Amino acid sequence: MHMKIVKRILKFIIIIVGALVVSIAIMVLMDIQNTKYLKVENNEFANNNSFLITNVNIIAKNQDTVLVGKMVHIKDGIIQNIADSIELNGVEIIDAKNKYLTPGLIDMHVHIWDRYELGLYLSNGITAVRNLWGMPMHLRLKEDLDNDKIISPMFFTTGPKLTGPEFIGDDNLQLTSPKEAKKKVISYKDRGYDFIKTYYGITEDIFDAVIEQAALSNMDIVAHPSQKVPYAYHFNAQIKSIEHAEEIIQQPLNYNLLDTVKLKNIFNDFEKLNKSSFSPTLTVYNNIYQMLIDDEILESETLQYMNPLIKIVDSKAQFERWINTKQQDSSIVKSIKNQHNLHLKIVKKLHETGTTIICGTDAGIGVTIPGFSIHQELTFYKEAGLSNYEVLKTATVNASKTHSVMSNMGTIEVGKVANLILIDNNPLLSLSALQHPKTVFIKGRKLNRDALDNFEKQAKNRKNLVASAIRYLENLMVEK
Ligand SMILES: [Zn+2]
Repeated sequence: MHMKIVKRILKFIIIIVGALVVSIAIMVLMDIQNTKYLKVENNEFANNNSFLITNVNIIAKNQDTVLVGKMVHIKDGIIQNIADSIELNGVEIIDAKNKYLTPGLIDMHVHIWDRYELGLYLSNGITAVRNLWGMPMHLRLKEDLDNDKIISPMFFTTGPKLTGPEFIGDDNLQLTSPKEAKKKVISYKDRGYDFIKTYYGITEDIFDAVIEQAALSNMDIVAHPSQKVPYAYHFNAQIKSIEHAEEIIQQPLNYNLLDTVKLKNIFNDFEKLNKSSFSPTLTVYNNIYQMLIDDEILESETLQYMNPLIKIVDSKAQFERWINTKQQDSSIVKSIKNQHNLHLKIVKKLHETGTTIICGTDAGIGVTIPGFSIHQELTFYKEAGLSNYEVLKTATVNASKTHSVMSNMGTIEVGKVANLILIDNNPLLSLSALQHPKTVFIKGRKLNRDALDNFEKQAKNRKNLVASAIRYLENLMVEK
């Protein structure tokens, strides 16, 4: 009798667990099903990746000027020829009289939570992204891109964030020994991650091990500076990119915005020691200020493009935290603004020291919206004092110079992949010309504004909260 009850309970548990597993699988599959508008097979335009663009003005590769009235031949997704005149038969011709052709934009610091975001990046002229918080879902996305299954910006991702023994965080990999660090670098390479991300809290002995193994495994490192090592430690040949202007103020400056002596030393160090690119991510920081001055920001239209899970667990929490801080001390509004202004100076100074600035927004968290944010970030670099041409370089050629795996993009040059935007106005006169592009080429495929608008529409107020939560749980549960 007793055994019978146990068996019944066991059976009941198995049924419940089984039903749970099945419904989880259905939820995730449904979310992917709902983004089928991105599938190559569902888009007729995807069948053609060869064009002849005529009469077009091209942003030149190496100088601040426009080459007028050129022809560009795209063949099988690659830029095949650029000339004053090209004779060709049997290829679709695009008359681009009075239009401007620039390389597609690249956002070097994003966090991707679902596939709807891919459409938002494309719709904003972004043809490549670097994801800096790797999870299993990103490896599946890479696989679909490798097999040419979906229309998406070119996608590169780091592995999970590597931190040291003391740093607590549910989604980071806490390394406890140099030996473990080396093992993880090898394993991330095997799993298919493109880069290693080192994070806040990583200690020197572990960092040394990561760098040593990354060099052996030919893996570039992207560093969110660690406060456990001196800032200049990050100027290392294996670290290809250093993130966040904010960290210069937090770590070497210890929040003392007026410590001009220390700041000068940092600039000197950059000039003498640094060969890494620098990604300022000014937008995400300035958005703190936006939250402080705009009580309605969570209800704003642009927030409707944020992943619903992030909206609930991150955007809202950040907003409430900053509003609370303001209630206790209203001077915070001014100090955030002051720090943002210092970030602008840092960008200008680092640019002058010869540092390669790469455009990164930190989109996908807080209230920093995927895709749209890049135009804000570029505006800040302009405000900092860079010319329009120098600003454009931060989101194109500079990115391609940072990692060898990105070297086939970022300029309009024979042999490069045809990731391009075709726009009505000259971006060297006004950067606003880059917003809302009429035509985007991704690997030679031509997306018109109707298709791009549809990508935006599909992503607006998407209902994939549960699927997003399941993917995040998966990340917490699998071995990192
Ligand atoms: Zn980030």
